[in-house]
Amino acid sequence: MKYELVSGLETHVELSTNTKIFCSCTTAFGGEPNTHCCPVCIGLPGTLPKLNREVVKYAIRAGLATNCEISRISKMDRKNYCYPDLPKAYQISQYDMPLCKNGYIELSNGRKIRINRIHIEEDAGKLIHQRGDTYVDYNRGGVPLIEIVTEPDIRSIDEAKEYVEKLQLIMRYIGVSDCKMQEGSMRCDVNISVRPKGSSEFGTRTEIKNMNSITFMTKAMEYEFDRQVDLIESGGEVVQETLRYDDVTNTTSSMRGKEDANDYRYFRDPDLVTISVTDSEVEELEKTIPELPDEKLERYVEELGIPENDAALLVKYRKVAEFFEKASEGTANPRTAANFIIGQIFRTIENESAKEEFNISVSAEDLRELILMLDSKKIRMNLAKSTLDKMLETGKKVSELISEKDMGGLDEAATRKLCQEAVEKNPNAVADYKNGKEKAIKAMVGYVMKNSRGKADAVAAENIIKEIIK
Ligand code: ADP
Ligand code: MG
Ligand code: ZN
Repeated sequence: MKYELVSGLETHVELSTNTKIFCSCTTAFGGEPNTHCCPVCIGLPGTLPKLNREVVKYAIRAGLATNCEISRISKMDRKNYCYPDLPKAYQISQYDMPLCKNGYIELSNGRKIRINRIHIEEDAGKLIHQRGDTYVDYNRGGVPLIEIVTEPDIRSIDEAKEYVEKLQLIMRYIGVSDCKMQEGSMRCDVNISVRPKGSSEFGTRTEIKNMNSITFMTKAMEYEFDRQVDLIESGGEVVQETLRYDDVTNTTSSMRGKEDANDYRYFRDPDLVTISVTDSEVEELEKTIPELPDEKLERYVEELGIPENDAALLVKYRKVAEFFEKASEGTANPRTAANFIIGQIFRTIENESAKEEFNISVSAEDLRELILMLDSKKIRMNLAKSTLDKMLETGKKVSELISEKDMGGLDEAATRKLCQEAVEKNPNAVADYKNGKEKAIKAMVGYVMKNSRGKADAVAAENIIKEIIK
């Protein structure tokens, strides 16, 4: 029998507000353990949380960018559980009245992955296991998170991967998070079940916790899909449980039986007031949503005439897209800038995260200046390319590398002078030519081209050389 994968993702994204969700401690990543803390975020008795309004704004922007409805009224709830990473023994989260709901992200195959909800909550501290001991660092405690929960709409590992990448890109475009999975600012819980192809009922699911890289996520999904299929094929049943993935053995193993909402004894947090959001607030935030990657892609293809594959490479990184737009502004054909970026510039950048940072020594204005010189035929492509290489290498500006005398073609007198030189320095070629070897002329033309840095007119040079030799 053929089986189909069914998956829904719960993604935690750390918001990049300056301060934590209920106190004014910094959200900066790292730092000496337990130095980014105060009595509020380590949950000392007698302290009172106060909601950071920026968190609400960031979360609303995330909701707007993923087609969600924004709740005008919502509230914070306590999710009770006892674990050393959470000294209060409850996490402040949102239960039955999340801030955003009913959104979706559309995949490239046209399928919409529905988003059930986006809620805000506080992050927990981090446990560090070292030489048999366990330490706890509360720096991360109280860092604001949004949790984005999809419906079980994902039908393949590729769709899961594309969904996560798209979500990551959208969050980065709107600037609510850097979504660095390796630093934990984006983490996914993956729910998986399988069912016979064609069936309309869902199977029992398992949940793999805390995937911190897309590669591991796809590996874990492959493993878990096969495990469930094997189990069913051999007459067994999938048990609903929470799993952890071990990236060394590439297997999943049970963490705990599945808890349900009752286990958490959710109740409204009595320390925090109702969150109300006005229409005009939502309208204002709507205005801050920039052009999103899908819209950009469409515009680059439709309006700027960039081939779709190239356009996809440009929009994949926000800074690259911004650079491209600045560099191509007012130039004859935006494809010129696109080609320089995807070709020569990308070749100097090592990996994905470096592309994300896009720290290069050439500014968009500099590249634009170079392209304008090409457009106006002041320089030729060869010179533009070698100049860009030098700019990337040295950080020098166009004006420092190309002088007036490099621009324009070589005039008749200068060409003639170089041709004379070419004849004098290549007596063998001259002899060969005179003996009927037509091709020998090319060596002399080559000399002229090389010594004029490509600026001489090759046809004119050939005629002049023939004239001199005659
Ligand atoms: P809970 O409240 O127990 O966490 P939810 O209904 O909120 O359960 O679902 C949690 C996640 O699990 C959601 O992303 C949802 O899409 C996914 N999910 C629910 N049922 C299934 C299923 N049968 N197979 C795969 N994923 C599922
Ligand atoms: Mg859940
Ligand atoms: Zn604090």
